[in-house]
Amino acid sequence: MATRDIRKQIGDLRDKIRRHDHLYYVLNKPAISDHEYDGLYKELKDLESEHPELITPDSPTQRVGGEPVKGFSVVRHIAPMLSMDNTYSSEEIREFDKRVKKNLKADSVGYVVELKFDGVSISLLYENGIWVRGATRGDGVEGDDVSNNLKTIRSIPLKFAGETKKVPRSLEVRGEVYMNTRSFEKINREKERNGEEPFANPRNAAAGSLKLLDPKMVAGRHLEIYIYGIGHCEGMEFKEHVEVLEYLKSAGFRVNPHFKLCRGIEEVIEYCDSWESRRDKLDFEIDGMVVKVNDLAARERLGATSKSPRWAIAYKFPAERAMTEVEDIIVQVGRTGAITPVALLKPVHLSGSTVSRATLHNFDEIARLDVKIGDKVYVEKSGEIIPKVLSVAKDKRTGKERYFRIPAKCPACGSKLIQIPEEVAIRCENVGCPAQIKETVLHFASRDAMDIEGMGTAIVDQLVDKGLIKDYADIYYLEVESVRNLERMAEKSAANLIAGITKSRENELHRLIYALGIRHVGEHSAWLLADNFNSVQRLADAGLEELVSIHEIGQVMAESIYNFFRSKENLKILKKLKDAGVRMAQAKTKETHGKLSGKSVVITGTLKSFSRSQAEDLVRKAGGNPSSSVSKNTAFLVCGEEAGSKLDKAKALGVKVIGEEEFKKMVR
Ligand SMILES: [Zn+2]
Repeated sequence: MATRDIRKQIGDLRDKIRRHDHLYYVLNKPAISDHEYDGLYKELKDLESEHPELITPDSPTQRVGGEPVKGFSVVRHIAPMLSMDNTYSSEEIREFDKRVKKNLKADSVGYVVELKFDGVSISLLYENGIWVRGATRGDGVEGDDVSNNLKTIRSIPLKFAGETKKVPRSLEVRGEVYMNTRSFEKINREKERNGEEPFANPRNAAAGSLKLLDPKMVAGRHLEIYIYGIGHCEGMEFKEHVEVLEYLKSAGFRVNPHFKLCRGIEEVIEYCDSWESRRDKLDFEIDGMVVKVNDLAARERLGATSKSPRWAIAYKFPAERAMTEVEDIIVQVGRTGAITPVALLKPVHLSGSTVSRATLHNFDEIARLDVKIGDKVYVEKSGEIIPKVLSVAKDKRTGKERYFRIPAKCPACGSKLIQIPEEVAIRCENVGCPAQIKETVLHFASRDAMDIEGMGTAIVDQLVDKGLIKDYADIYYLEVESVRNLERMAEKSAANLIAGITKSRENELHRLIYALGIRHVGEHSAWLLADNFNSVQRLADAGLEELVSIHEIGQVMAESIYNFFRSKENLKILKKLKDAGVRMAQAKTKETHGKLSGKSVVITGTLKSFSRSQAEDLVRKAGGNPSSSVSKNTAFLVCGEEAGSKLDKAKALGVKVIGEEEFKKMVR
């Protein structure tokens, strides 16, 4: 056969398969048997393997072609993927409507109401109707390129598959990848059989699956998608959101049929309510409804805040509840040392997943609920929060229930637990506690603390897991030889990391005090402490009264500092820091007569050249006091972009307002 004929034959087969994929996966209306479909697929596959030069990325055979990857590259979204503000009552939805009408100076506004899928937001990019790439939402600006994984979702067209002939030059569509309830339960059963930790809910399962590095495994997870809008479009114009949805459908995308164009907010509320009672009928999870302004020009006019669009809002359903039994109560150490009691429950079905543990938050909560081991309790799950115990069914008590005793020692390290009088939480204050070490080391090395470059999560995880460090002081005993073999480390980066560590030994005292991770001691307090005590030793020796006598150091912080230096474990770590040559005292030269000497300065809004804490540092270096609230005593307000109420207040009080450029000149 001539190549031209083969090319045509392959093209026809692909079109056929695409049409049947669309009928089967998107429209749920298969027109041929699985057997016939497999026949077409095999024919195409055979032809392509005889003529590999004719394989194109949009061929149906290329969905699971990708090889396992080491990680995902980062892509920048063409238009930012903003998140939506949440509301929880009809009253709040009416408030939203009032705001929209006021901003648009309109008497009535049309809204499209859609289901709020509880999955993972993604964006798909097409050029001239051909798939280019797909990415996760990430932080809204940049996400992970998960193209190979998304391609395994058969309802995502690799080439527009519907009846439309209109194809824009560039189209970024937005949608939600989810896992239906049946697949979710199947996967969890498999996981349990394999002795693995099951997924907490279908959303976690979908998110976890999209992050798998092997597309073949992703294909086995049976992910699905609903497309609900576009982020960016070139070469086509739309006037209304309903028109966008209709177009997406006609281009072969899977659009959920349950949406409604409502005239007026009462109709919106009615539609939301109707789904609240019907949500169980769906074979996937929704956690609420989304209300969007239909008119796209009106959306333009409404715009967005830095976080969310002003033309849309999410309405979240109230959480679901169930009754079950408390089989035991155990305690966990959080990453920051707080000890949390956890109720182990007799497994119960709740909001589409099986719940077997619930947080009790703290020990006061146990007392407030009066919950005992063996009690029947009501549990609630809302959004991504772990289920919590709502109340005890006391009328169901048999008399066999047992009280829970608060443990005296940390379950992770065995050191004595401490309860601060003013606080409900009980804590393990040992900064060397294995349950907390990763967090304390990351904090220690962070930019505003010891500022050790290269000491990020990936490295800290490995250092701790491989037993190379047991506390943050151990950082100073690392050598190039020991870090060179870590993943993502080469000779040069290992040398750089060690150089960064070495350099941090000379840091100013306030950085070290902040880095120690004394609870309640933030950057500003660390500065005050460094200023007042001049050395770690003097600070460690300070009594409670002396600490409290310092302006801005309250009772709670004073006790926290005092206790920190009374822990044997902590003192050992401090000695290690000292032995490693970390500077433990204030440097001799200290600027006391800066341009801002004694002046109170407030910073508001976003500055272009500095972070908030950098700017505050500069104020201090120039002898001034950064403050967080505007008062009559404020010398001036430094005003960045998107300044809020502080600017209004400064104007009202007649406080001088300066811009970033002027501020720069002052602190130089
Ligand atoms: Zn501990």
